[in-house]
Amino acid sequence: MRIGILCLQGAFIEHIHALDKLGADSFEIRQKSDLRRSFDGLIIPGGESTVIGKLLGDLGMTDKVRGMITDGLPVFGTCAGLILLAKRIENDDRTHLSTMDITVMRNAYGRQLGSFACVAPFEGIGEIPMTFIRAPYITEVGANAHALATVDGHIVAARQDNQLVTAFHPELTDDARVHEYFLGMIKGK
Ligand code: GLN
Repeated sequence: MRIGILCLQGAFIEHIHALDKLGADSFEIRQKSDLRRSFDGLIIPGGESTVIGKLLGDLGMTDKVRGMITDGLPVFGTCAGLILLAKRIENDDRTHLSTMDITVMRNAYGRQLGSFACVAPFEGIGEIPMTFIRAPYITEVGANAHALATVDGHIVAARQDNQLVTAFHPELTDDARVHEYFLGMIKGK
């Protein structure tokens, strides 16, 4: 099994380490030609969604990546990756890949609570540590998507078929169970 990691901007090294820990092969996607390699799943990391979204467009990758996801490629978006996959962004006119039936709020925790950590239940896994950095949360999950974790009444993880998103950064903790869950989605395809 090989996972492509979108490495245009943001926190991607930690995802490579999490996959290493689980014995899954990964490679970096930096340009359109990298999408021609064969791979079984895609990770879109945290960072700045506007920057990653713009780079995807400038590199001519947006339509190709969107098509691969709508054709069923398993994808896991963390934080900015979640924003890139959302069909609706409450506080931004732009949308990016727009494949997942969720509404999100960027920088939803404001400046005071810019970064925080907690432990909360994740459906199908159990209690896991969650690290939030200038995180979004999901304000609405459409009929096609399903909430997997809630913190303080806000949805912070969701799934829609082949698409998994978390508002937090599982790659920044020692706990690789969300990555393992993603690998399970790929195997169960
Ligand atoms: N605040 C960033 C955004 O809006 C996301 C932050 C993150 O990925 N850690 O894109």
